[in-house]
Amino acid sequence: VYVGLFLVGPVKKSMRSQCFSSTLIGVEAHLVGVEVVISSGLPGLTVVGLPDTAVTEAGARVRSALKLTGVNLPPRRMVVNLSPADLRKSGAGFDLALALGLLEALGEIPAGCLAHTLVVGELSLGGEVRRVRGVVSYLALAASTTALRRIVVPFEQVAGLPRWDGVDVVGVSTLEQAIQYCRGEWIPVAAGVVPTQGPSRGTDLAEVRGQDLAKLALEIAAAGGHHLAMVGPPGCGKSLLASCLPGLLPPLTDAEEREVAVISSVCEEEQLLLQRPFRSPGSVISPSALLGSFRPGEVTRAHRGVLFLDEFPEFRRDALESLRLVLEEGQVRVSRARFQTTYPAHFTLICAMNPCPCGMASVPGEVCQCSSRQVARYRGKLSGPLLDRLDLLVGLHRVPLSELHDRPVSESSQCVAQRVGQAREIQMLRGCLNRDLSGDPLFSYLNWSRADQKFALEVGDSTRLSMRAFQKWLRVARTLADLEGTDGVSKQHLLVARSLRVTLGSGEQAA
Ligand SMILES: [Zn+2]
Repeated sequence: VYVGLFLVGPVKKSMRSQCFSSTLIGVEAHLVGVEVVISSGLPGLTVVGLPDTAVTEAGARVRSALKLTGVNLPPRRMVVNLSPADLRKSGAGFDLALALGLLEALGEIPAGCLAHTLVVGELSLGGEVRRVRGVVSYLALAASTTALRRIVVPFEQVAGLPRWDGVDVVGVSTLEQAIQYCRGEWIPVAAGVVPTQGPSRGTDLAEVRGQDLAKLALEIAAAGGHHLAMVGPPGCGKSLLASCLPGLLPPLTDAEEREVAVISSVCEEEQLLLQRPFRSPGSVISPSALLGSFRPGEVTRAHRGVLFLDEFPEFRRDALESLRLVLEEGQVRVSRARFQTTYPAHFTLICAMNPCPCGMASVPGEVCQCSSRQVARYRGKLSGPLLDRLDLLVGLHRVPLSELHDRPVSESSQCVAQRVGQAREIQMLRGCLNRDLSGDPLFSYLNWSRADQKFALEVGDSTRLSMRAFQKWLRVARTLADLEGTDGVSKQHLLVARSLRVTLGSGEQAA
């Protein structure tokens, strides 16, 4: 009791300030109150409220930055309290808020000038304001918090930020500039410049010669959100085709663009991504890098875009197993010691594989070196629960050069994207993408004739389709009808849909 009384001491001359900063958990920014109290007592600067090492070390950086900016901290007791107390605070983004909070408490900047303001920025020892990770998440927080009207961020991160209503962005490059801003001596140039990113949306479909069936599969995948597998020998253009998909999808809505920008900023991508992502991780990727841990994984970086897994059977089994749940839920739940978060992960999956381990099975003029057992094991990787999520499974073959030469140039991505957009609009009237249709809703939306229904059931029975595989077939047929803008699914749609589902031996039976 005695020690406590001594340390608290007389609080008559205490000075205080209150401002706001934020800490990141996953891709979400959480509001943190920064309260500074300066009182007589043992001189020193203490940060309390569950700070991590980087936050604790803020004291040294802030002291040095202030000194070089011309402010010497008085030999008094300075306590910085970060609230809420039970939220773990991490990163160096508190530096600027800490410095400004101290200055306000000392009366160096006007009292109350930081009300309604979120402050994030790391300080160098010399007083420069350095970039922070996840700046778009902080912007999202400022925009969604009614008590906040502006956000102070590192100047170098202002350019390229997506537009956000209801919040002013102030970019400062030094602590001195931030002080001048608070004193009203410096007015920032209008921020929130709308960035324009070029049409670098992957490969254009017109650049790919031949492979008409695969192109149709891509169009259907784009229109109905269906996940897709491509099976074909090396060099038949699977990667090239996959990279066309982002360009076939409709442009991001404002809300989607913000989601993508948030993830991009948390992943510290050099340039903020504001279009549909295309991610193609290598097969040696670990499950945590694929699914995410303390930082978002590839499935989240592909959010609202495309995840392409080339050489699919080479991926680790446990990684693929977990992928199934992600496809089902559209999100990833991460749970580590003291770290729980949920990452968004809505994407279209494209898997590519060779027909066998050596890749030469069913290639004219080539001899496959694999045993039937090897082939079965290889194809088996695509079987089971993950295969259930893939509505489209197309077989590709190498197009002979002579044939390539004669081919007419096919439709551009722009043409196809227009149809895709219309097909998506039709689906939105029903409430969901065709990928997510099953059971009674699926059957009720087919609007097919009795004859076509009979035809489908007969084919289903004669080829021993499971109910799951049968529904996949119908889903794809529904998307074909939507691409045409017709109300009912016809026999023609069913026949085309059937050709977009190759059999993979034992693997296919599992579906
Ligand atoms: Zn082989």
